[in-house]
Amino acid sequence: MRSATLWSRPVTAVRPAAARTSRPASRTACRTAPTGAPYAEAVIDLAAIAHNTEVLAAHARGALLAVVKADGFGHGAVPVARTALAAGASWLGVTSVREALELRAAGITAPVLSWLHLPDEDFAPALRAGIDLSVSSPEHLAAIAACAERTGVTARVHLKVDTGLRRGGVVPADWPALTVRARDLERAGLLAVRGLWSHLVDADRPGRHTAAQVREFEQAVRCARQAGLRPELRHLANSAACLSAPQTHYELVRAGLGVYGIEPVPGRDHGLRPAMTLRARAATARPVAAGEGVSYGHEYTAPADGTLLLVPVGFADGVPRAAGGRARMWVAGSRRPVAGRIAMDQCVLDAGAAEVGIGEEVLVFGPGDRGEPTAAEWAQWAGTNPHEVLTGIGARVTRRYLPAAARTARPAEQNEHQNRNRNQGNEGERCA
Ligand SMILES: *Cc1c(COP(=O)(O)O)cnc(C)c1O
Repeated sequence: MRSATLWSRPVTAVRPAAARTSRPASRTACRTAPTGAPYAEAVIDLAAIAHNTEVLAAHARGALLAVVKADGFGHGAVPVARTALAAGASWLGVTSVREALELRAAGITAPVLSWLHLPDEDFAPALRAGIDLSVSSPEHLAAIAACAERTGVTARVHLKVDTGLRRGGVVPADWPALTVRARDLERAGLLAVRGLWSHLVDADRPGRHTAAQVREFEQAVRCARQAGLRPELRHLANSAACLSAPQTHYELVRAGLGVYGIEPVPGRDHGLRPAMTLRARAATARPVAAGEGVSYGHEYTAPADGTLLLVPVGFADGVPRAAGGRARMWVAGSRRPVAGRIAMDQCVLDAGAAEVGIGEEVLVFGPGDRGEPTAAEWAQWAGTNPHEVLTGIGARVTRRYLPAAARTARPAEQNEHQNRNRNQGNEGERCA
């Protein structure tokens, strides 16, 4: 409750004028920064997750798999999974058995596909938990079948063929023999081949490789059918292809980035809403004079007299160091430059002449509704992609969830979100 009050009503006890008369900030800091209030938090708008899921599901010709790997791209795998399932996704996707088991441990019973394994891994927990496993080499096929024999549980598998990405997936030369072997294992009751799949090279730039990959994929599907396999699912598309390449949809589409509200197709606007807002409260406010250097190496020189805010997030929290020099954060109604190098735990914001003080709300990124930067802009400043910005937000940053609208949440899920947010006192808030 206390923290919510602080968040919703920025504390401005120390004004620049006061700071300039060098009144010790600590005197007021004790009053204005109670222990327990987070320095920095990532606010996850589950209504945005629900909306984005609906947009993607409306485009998908088949079913929608929500990719919740890497802790739901940093948003929290379990709350995102529940919200996406309530809003139209029917599958979940992760890269590891551990992530899949975390979903099961949370009571999620929806189909889950896990796709990145070593063949010497113990697949028994995955089989017992009813996790679908990807097969990306003959070694993986053998290992999963051996585990099925040992445990007495039929393994549900999706055979992954490489159609040009040359990252994961069965190499085309191994595919015919692998499909025959899979059919034999299926007839022996060890496997159920539920899916055939592949991954696109550059679905965000339609036309370059996608058509050739579709042809390769269809060839691989024919080959599997000739071997006697009859899987119910074929899947190839990611978020970008979900929105822009319907010829890749088949029975299932795997969407990650779009679920989190980042537009996956450059130059297009599908009305997705960024779900994460990263914000912090200024730890100190201090005067700066024109011409003074700021932060390591003094790479920034204050252009005018003003106020510097110490923002308690740094690259250990996922604020990209490479964005230093270009980055902006939002404070007191406008974007202000990050002054110089971003350090591990903190950075400095030049608030200029704005009326700001200790505890001031700083938006690092968000949906952009208040003029704050977006994760996509941070990605540009840092020379990376939004995936890296979102998944980089560190464990030290508190996650807080804004509930999805009642129209999409099932009663049980709704209650859970309410419980989580009961003490926040700001149910109506939507980072909007
Ligand atoms: C991460 C991932 C996706 C999701 O891709 P987006 O571009 O984020 O939608 C889909 N399929 C596979 C195999 C992935 O690893």
